Amino acid sequence: MTAGKETVLITGGAGFIGSHLAENLLDAGHRVIVMDNLLTGTGANVALFANRDYLFIEHDVTNYMFVSEPIDAVLHFASPASPADYLRYPIKTLKVGSLGTHKALGLAKHAGATFMLASTSEVYGDPQVNPQPESYWGHVNPIGPRGVYDEAKRFAEALTMAYHRSHSVDTRIARIFNTYGPRMRLDDGRAVPNFMLQALSDQPITVYGDGQQTRSFCYVEDTVRGLLALMRSSVHEPVNIGNPAEITIVEIAQLIVEMTGSASEIIFEDLPVDDPKVRRPDASRARDQLGWQPRVDLRQGLERTIPWFREQLEAKSGSTARAG
Ligand code: NAD
Ligand code: UDP
Repeated sequence: MTAGKETVLITGGAGFIGSHLAENLLDAGHRVIVMDNLLTGTGANVALFANRDYLFIEHDVTNYMFVSEPIDAVLHFASPASPADYLRYPIKTLKVGSLGTHKALGLAKHAGATFMLASTSEVYGDPQVNPQPESYWGHVNPIGPRGVYDEAKRFAEALTMAYHRSHSVDTRIARIFNTYGPRMRLDDGRAVPNFMLQALSDQPITVYGDGQQTRSFCYVEDTVRGLLALMRSSVHEPVNIGNPAEITIVEIAQLIVEMTGSASEIIFEDLPVDDPKVRRPDASRARDQLGWQPRVDLRQGLERTIPWFREQLEAKSGSTARAG
């Protein structure tokens, strides 16, 4: 990409990460086009952009994508991302990762635009190597329930590299690790939103399995800074974007209870099938090639996230009271 004002199309831009990316690019003076079918995102996430250099196109990107103006970059973020969402929409998840990526790459090729794929740490599956470097090929069950997401993203990476090698498209692949922050939906179903919702309403905190499985949580501001650094780079190989600070799920549940001052107790429920036992990025490629490192630690990030969930809960109880 060149310096100066650019037009950036974000598929999935009405979702959690996509809307933060859009906001960041608008703040930097660029034009942003969001293309989204609102399957798991919400109009509220992008309502604030209405008076800016911004266009919303409601469209399912598994169908032919057309934009009648020059585009400098296509950031392909459309896909259900929460396990609860992709288990609810298995075929839509496979289609957006395969057909949607094909359409988005086709548009980037036609427009001569830079293309960035939002891939995921799930391409490593239930990893047998910890931390995971980009050179690790992964350990994925293709026919398990999570396979719909993992394999769609693995196919999307393969297609992206094929368009780079065969059609010389200027591609990037971001392997994003667990990201959290404001604009996650209350009913998103991932660990941070579930624990926030439960802690703030003094409901039991549902830890799956024995809670000894690990994840490495990155605050959304850091993730977006890493994604934009990758977009500006010329690195075509996949790059892990994640915070290497690893924590067990029961520990983050306890931390959220403590930080919200909740009276919730922790209860243990069945571990979902194929739930990865460990996950932690080897972030050295991002550090060495992008000069990127996360800056916000988990406690700081949760402090900035708690008010968002409080507001969502208050709005929900207000509307329930009005309806009653
Ligand atoms: P999200 O569900 O909040 O956002 C996804 C967006 O894609 C939603 O607005 C949804 O409506 C849209 N979408 C889905 N299918 C579509 C289709 N067929 N056509 C048009 N729009 C469609 O999820 P998120 O957490 O913001 O994740 C965004 C991207 O980042 C996803 O591709 C996800 O796989 C990837 N990612 C996220 C994380 C994370 O921790 N949040 C981790 C790894 C990868
Ligand atoms: N998890 C949990 N309770 C919940 C939601 C999630 O214990 O209410 C666990 C889940 O089983 C996984 C971890 O938290 O081990 C992270 O789950 P999440 O859905 O956030 O994302 P994943 O990393 O599995 O894609």
